[in-house]
Amino acid sequence: MAIFDWRASRRNFLATSGLFSSWAGFLPRRLFGASSTARPRAKKPSSIYERLGVRTRINAKGTYTYLTGSLLPPEVAEAMTDAAQHYVLIEELQRAVGAKISSLLGVEAACVTSGAAGALTLGTAACVTGSDPEKIKRLPETAGMKNEVIIQKAHRYGFDHAVRNVGVRLVEVETEDDLERAINEKTAMMHFLNEAQNQGKIGLEKWVEVGKRRGIPTFNDAAADVPPVSHLSDYNKMGFDLVCFSGGKGLRGPQCSGLLLGRKDLIDAALLNNNPNEDTIGRPMKVGKEEIAGLYVALERYLKVDHEAEWKAWEKQLDLMDKEVTSVPGIHTGRFVPEVANHVPHLYFQWDETALGLTKAECVKQLEEGEPSVVCLGDDYPYGLSVTPFMMKPGEEKIVALRLKQVFIEAQKKRAAG
Ligand SMILES: *Cc1c(COP(=O)(O)O)cnc(C)c1O
Repeated sequence: MAIFDWRASRRNFLATSGLFSSWAGFLPRRLFGASSTARPRAKKPSSIYERLGVRTRINAKGTYTYLTGSLLPPEVAEAMTDAAQHYVLIEELQRAVGAKISSLLGVEAACVTSGAAGALTLGTAACVTGSDPEKIKRLPETAGMKNEVIIQKAHRYGFDHAVRNVGVRLVEVETEDDLERAINEKTAMMHFLNEAQNQGKIGLEKWVEVGKRRGIPTFNDAAADVPPVSHLSDYNKMGFDLVCFSGGKGLRGPQCSGLLLGRKDLIDAALLNNNPNEDTIGRPMKVGKEEIAGLYVALERYLKVDHEAEWKAWEKQLDLMDKEVTSVPGIHTGRFVPEVANHVPHLYFQWDETALGLTKAECVKQLEEGEPSVVCLGDDYPYGLSVTPFMMKPGEEKIVALRLKQVFIEAQKKRAAG
């Protein structure tokens, strides 16, 4: 069996592909191998991650917390630096930012939390304790309080732990009948997972209608569900009493920030359960002045973005990747947009895995372990290997396309060499 000389063939491929001259400036030097040290180093290395010996990644996957969510636009980073230079009363800052956010979005009230998960805990606590200081102190001990939260079976998820933190018991329902029967004097809240809106038997509107009729506050977790921008107020307008979003996903705010939007009395109660109040369930979910200011500016920015132009730019980035990668014989592509959460254009790749001797999982692994490291969607996704430009930096689509081509061409050569 012939030994495949990866480096030689890589140089070959780069030299013969038309991409070489036009893309060279975008590529980190290491992509070209040791022989090309004279090439300009276009990508500024990160001094902090280099010092720490932590690899940076190209994010072709979307907003994922384990991948650190999103990158801060410069104006957000500036707002955080500015906020860090002055003392303020954190409660005054929360109130001021909350008022501005609620008027920007046309919702009754708002506060900034440590994330969507923090918002889930604070919002649930608000429904359980109201403004009662004794109850606030006792959490997560809830004996004698309203301490049941109703949720559809299909809406159970990892983040319902953030609801359970409050000391409530989740009551699972499937049908409307189940729901009507489950509501009792102990029901504190009805929780809904926006992303699962088509999985459960009870839809958004019905959930709200029952909540209103039976006098139970409803909560919609829409953490990862911008774009579209309208979602930021859609669910409050629909009648949900509380809605949360991650600050560090589509909004591109600080990683440790989130939005809790909704009824004024519940937002007030959420704040009573929150930092800086020490004897509270929310004290460990501190959100600092830097994050509060940063999320506010991120939201202002997001509302001004030309979302249509942004969408078109994403399509163009996909066009480029599509064209380059399908120049490899046997590689086919398709497009899709997830209905909710990471609702942005995606491109998937397909090929005869047996014929090429390369599975999608192996391809994902090679992209991730290669240099630079490219993180894609994999087998846990409906179409297997897929990419989205949602969280890429401009120009990275070229690197991603090139790496995909390299992996496919290497597999073909290996196969040919048998
Ligand atoms: C990401 C996510 C969360 C948690 O958001 P953080 O801002 O990281 O706390 C909660 N719920 C859903 C559905 C999410 O996607």
